Amino acid sequence: MTDETVYDCIIIGAGPGGLQAAVYLGRYNRKVLLIDRGGGRTSHARHIENFLTQKDISGGEIIRLGLEQARNFNVAVISGLVTNVVKREYFDVTAEGKRHRSRFVIVSSGATENLPPIENIHKFFGDSFFTCIDCDGYRTTGKKLTVIGNSLKTVHLALAMKEMYTEDITLILYTLPIPEVYMEELRENGIRLVNGRPVRLSGGETLEAVELHDGGRIECEVVMSNFGYKLNAAFLADLNLKRDADNFKFITDRHFESSCDGLYIVGPLTGNDQAIIAAGEGALVAIELKKRLLEL
Ligand SMILES: Cc1cc2nc3c(=O)[nH]c(=O)nc-3n(C[C@H](O)[C@H](O)[C@H](O)COP(=O)(O)OP(=O)(O)OC[C@H]3O[C@@H](n4cnc5c(N)ncnc54)[C@H](O)[C@@H]3O)c2cc1C
Repeated sequence: MTDETVYDCIIIGAGPGGLQAAVYLGRYNRKVLLIDRGGGRTSHARHIENFLTQKDISGGEIIRLGLEQARNFNVAVISGLVTNVVKREYFDVTAEGKRHRSRFVIVSSGATENLPPIENIHKFFGDSFFTCIDCDGYRTTGKKLTVIGNSLKTVHLALAMKEMYTEDITLILYTLPIPEVYMEELRENGIRLVNGRPVRLSGGETLEAVELHDGGRIECEVVMSNFGYKLNAAFLADLNLKRDADNFKFITDRHFESSCDGLYIVGPLTGNDQAIIAAGEGALVAIELKKRLLEL
């Protein structure tokens, strides 16, 4: 099946990055298709407090409002999973078995959290179980905090949390030992170190404790973890785009154009995982595409 329209731009992903680009391109009266499968990272953000003018808004509400705004400017929106993008005369974007064609593509498909297998994690995720210091570090201020992870990065995270947010910290590491210099830092900062594997979060309305596989129980009000995320980029495989030295993030130029002419990438796939930054990048790409579409 092929969509007869040749769009000026297809946007993959309706998070802040894709939606902001859609609003700009819609207001240039360009022919835009936005394809989204739903359930992205922003939808898990229950409290966003660092987006200018928003004292406290959920990610779900940002998406709802953004979709409404984009539709008002005649952006076509369809639900579906994009499975492949290739470049022929136009870009061919396949979603749910249907081919859509466009002159340009903006990829704003975000990332998916690597959440450890802990019972009840989804109950508390985004509310008292956090994964991002920039997003939710502030929400731990003055609270009884457990930091969990499995690398020395987690030790750095615990020290940063102590410096900025709270005195009462227990650090749970899956693997020990760690170098003595780190042990010393933790002792000096009064951070308790526990070796173990969390298996369950307990609590009713609010989080009460992290339970460990050996029966241990660490009481806490909030958890900060760092297991990273994977990029939602499988559908780009056929384009062989350039990535960084770790073969992880995509390399783009200052307009966020990838190594494939006409395909732009914003948000965590290129390095930034904040809603307002993704939105800014989306606006920047749309302004660039306005110029390129006029040149055509
Ligand atoms: C718990 C939590 C709290 C957060 N709190 C904050 C905060 O307070 N402040 C802040 O600035 N940021 C916060 N963030 C981060 C923020 O949500 C994202 O980093 C940011 O929204 C990135 O936006 P994005 O548009 O690039 O991607 P996303 O918001 O991830 O949107 C990508 C969209 O693309 C869709 N998609 C993915 N693959 C496909 C595909 N193949 N086909 C079709 N659609 C696809 C996804 O389903 C999703 O809808 C938080 C994140 C989490 C998880």
